[in-house]
Amino acid sequence: MISYQLRQREYLLQISRAMTARLDLPSLLRLILTNAAEIVRAEAGLIALRRGQSSVLTIHASYNIPTALLPRFAPLLTDVPLRTDHFAFPDLQLRLDMVTRAILLPLHQVIALPLVFEERLLGLIYLFRSGTAAFTANDQAVLTSFADQAAIAVRNAQLYQQLSEEKRQLDAIIQHSADGVMILDADLRILVFNRALSQMTGWSAEAALGRPCYEVLALEQASGPNLCGPDPIEVEFPDGQPVMVEGLLPRPSGSRLAVSITYSPLYDEDGRLTRIIANVVDITRFREAEEMKSTFVSVISHELKTPVALIKGYANTLAREDAQWDSATLREGLQVISEESDRLNVLINNLLDASRIQAGAFKLERGDVLIPKLAARVVDNFRVHATGHRFVLDFPADFPCVSGDEERLRQVLDNLVSNAIKYSPAGGEIRVGGWSDDAWATVYVADQGIGIPAEEQGKLFQRFYRVDSSLRRSTQGAGLGLYLCKSIVEAHGGRIWLRSEPGKGTTVFVTLPLK
Ligand code: ATP
Ligand code: MG
Repeated sequence: MISYQLRQREYLLQISRAMTARLDLPSLLRLILTNAAEIVRAEAGLIALRRGQSSVLTIHASYNIPTALLPRFAPLLTDVPLRTDHFAFPDLQLRLDMVTRAILLPLHQVIALPLVFEERLLGLIYLFRSGTAAFTANDQAVLTSFADQAAIAVRNAQLYQQLSEEKRQLDAIIQHSADGVMILDADLRILVFNRALSQMTGWSAEAALGRPCYEVLALEQASGPNLCGPDPIEVEFPDGQPVMVEGLLPRPSGSRLAVSITYSPLYDEDGRLTRIIANVVDITRFREAEEMKSTFVSVISHELKTPVALIKGYANTLAREDAQWDSATLREGLQVISEESDRLNVLINNLLDASRIQAGAFKLERGDVLIPKLAARVVDNFRVHATGHRFVLDFPADFPCVSGDEERLRQVLDNLVSNAIKYSPAGGEIRVGGWSDDAWATVYVADQGIGIPAEEQGKLFQRFYRVDSSLRRSTQGAGLGLYLCKSIVEAHGGRIWLRSEPGKGTTVFVTLPLK
């Protein structure tokens, strides 16, 4: 008898070691269940766990019971007693009889052991026997101490599961964050490096992990505490608060990316710095917007000042009481005032259009448009002013009607022809023509002017962009014309591009869909 109890105790010790070493909940539950069944020679069993505070259990492990029959055990799992100090399950045997009568399983004896951790019921181990031998007080005693061990192991595994789940979620958040995120240890070595940061820096996570961060994120022109700069600085967080730095991040392509980095410290319980979390944000757009704002102010103030100064000057001169003006001078002065007012008007309308496009509130009023006729009208308007230029219209007779907003398309041609004149100061031919196929109508405006250097050609369609040349200073313009042309053409479903050679001339093409 004594040796049997000794053996049993030895056996219990062995399993409890095995149990505490296991953190994977499903396999732990299987181990507990088979061992519990073996200890008291039970033929079948179940482990059901409680979810939250509910008194309903769900089956997590079974032993010798066909899976298909598991749902039939529901009567044993609802309204279970939750008292943990003197656990008792009153109608247990009755409930088992209900279950087995329905499914014809030869299970006649049952015992339920609570898994209790810190006075909370985690779940129950059910064991079943087929014969008439009921579970004894000794079985109960042995199993109770076994269940106490098992409960600790179950709680550990549940906590581990919860932790792994939370870690997975955190990892997913960090990996999928649109901002660059990295976690550093107190020596500034990289422990975590997310995808966005890989994209920004060109470093793969594998290559970056373990390296000091200044090898990977060598920020240039930093404004602020440059923790990862080329010259290492003392890591300091005043009052434990995050610090921020802006600067340029060199990329593998050789280009630079404007970023802002926020470093947030993490401390342990003793106040020692253990980790630094760095959040890296691409601020290119923000910087561009800032730049745009200052360009806007300088361009607009210049463009507004010139005509206003002319108008004011002529008006003052003409209004002088001490002078007499002949009618020719008078007319000339008034002509300038009128033209400069027109220019102001065009500029204001362009600005309004540009801001409408920015706000996405740009609407087309479509109709049938005859481009050759429209081009002839536009050219006629310019012919009066531009004397040094020859204008040629070159459309085939069967050039098709396009569906579009006539006023907007006139604006496009107006701008292209005005550019052609403005940027061919020595005169020459200005040719406006086109061709078509089944799907597209193409219109071009060609000049023999100063042309555009290749490296500038991509930027002309941006707002306020003007090529820096001597002409830029002598001609007027806000750099809005081509931006508006592109927006209008694209709103029609078309495309605009140009071909140009410095010193030879420029041709701008516009293609519009016919359907
Ligand atoms: P705005 O049209 O607002 O009065 P702008 O003519 O300067 O001003 P865009 O029409 O957008 O602005 O043109 C942008 C820049 O592109 C011009 O400043 C000029 O440098 C260049 N450009 C445009 N068309 C030509 C061309 N036909 N030949 C040479 N350069 C051109
Ligand atoms: Mg223009």
